[in-house]
Amino acid sequence: MRTAFDATVSDRIRSLGIRVLEGGRLSREEGLFLLNLESSADIFDLMSWANRIREHFKGNQVHLCSIVNAKAGGCSENCKFCSQSAFYQTGSPRYGFVDPEPALEAAAEAGRNNVTALGLVAAWKGLNEGPMLDEVCDRVRELKAQGNVRVDVSLGIIKNENVARRLRDAGVECYGHNLESSRRFFPEHCSTHSFEDRLETIRLLKQAGIRICSGGIIGMGETREDRCDLALELREVGASVVPINFLNPIEGTPFEKLPPVPPLEALKTIACFRFLLPRQEIMVAGGRTKNLRDLQSLVFAAGASALMVGNYLTTLNRPVEEDLQMIADLRLNPSWEHNFADQDSADPSTACHADHPCSCHSSTTPAAATATATAATAAIA
Ligand code: SF4
Repeated sequence: MRTAFDATVSDRIRSLGIRVLEGGRLSREEGLFLLNLESSADIFDLMSWANRIREHFKGNQVHLCSIVNAKAGGCSENCKFCSQSAFYQTGSPRYGFVDPEPALEAAAEAGRNNVTALGLVAAWKGLNEGPMLDEVCDRVRELKAQGNVRVDVSLGIIKNENVARRLRDAGVECYGHNLESSRRFFPEHCSTHSFEDRLETIRLLKQAGIRICSGGIIGMGETREDRCDLALELREVGASVVPINFLNPIEGTPFEKLPPVPPLEALKTIACFRFLLPRQEIMVAGGRTKNLRDLQSLVFAAGASALMVGNYLTTLNRPVEEDLQMIADLRLNPSWEHNFADQDSADPSTACHADHPCSCHSSTTPAAATATATAATAAIA
């Protein structure tokens, strides 16, 4: 069956793309327009603009992250997607906080693979002051002294600013704390803590000067409106890294029977996040292989700028070598150095990546930079 070409849709995607390239923001209604695109031609059109936006703000550099399950299983929370919740029978392993040797070995391996950051992830509700915080800080210091990777942590809810300050003083630059979904949908997957608890944790961490890595999970039964609201909330809280996970349904959890996200829907969601969060590190994380299958090499063309490599917390990923080859084939450069300077420019609305072949960098005023960005955009459109 033929589908009629609707030039107004293509024109609107283009004009929104140009606006983002020029430093403009999308409204909720515009984000929803993009998320509701249905035809594959429109989705590929959207992706081509998301790719331009990624290239404009990020150049050809991509960042890789790995995680270590630093404390596994037996979590007191009831997140319905999670195999580590004590509420569900999943066969997930259980062990206490990771010893120095395996953590150091994981960091050394991550360094060999050009990985930017290694995240220590703990399956518990949160972290308070006490001996466990001392142990976490010790592990962070040891890894930082080794110098192979940036040391990130994901340690759940924090209710005390001293905890955030101690983590920062130990060397934590970036803290992983997903919002997981929209404010509206959050109670559908967790009732033992709230969306507000998560926002408050992010607020305390930011106050201590720690960067935020926060995203969510696609495919839990949320609507496209929820996906849009999640992206807007992440824009509002100022997340620096935005991991997009696709649900990998785990047997024994309440979400075990949920269907996978169709690959084009997954790519469209990544592209929409790039439109809504143009300068953030959009990282494709868990569930990539299961949901995207053969289309996973298109995640960068859809606007992603970072990838989680190596195994996930409780599920396997494909070998790192295959991801590195895919990145090389795409002529992208896995840079291990990342200090977020590209998100801290004096004029964040117009700054683009130094490697990007536009003439923005020779401009002397923001107005001139905008004019040259427009000209460059027109030339490639
Ligand atoms: S808080 Fe984290 S580890 Fe615990 S159940 Fe929820 S997602 Fe799993």
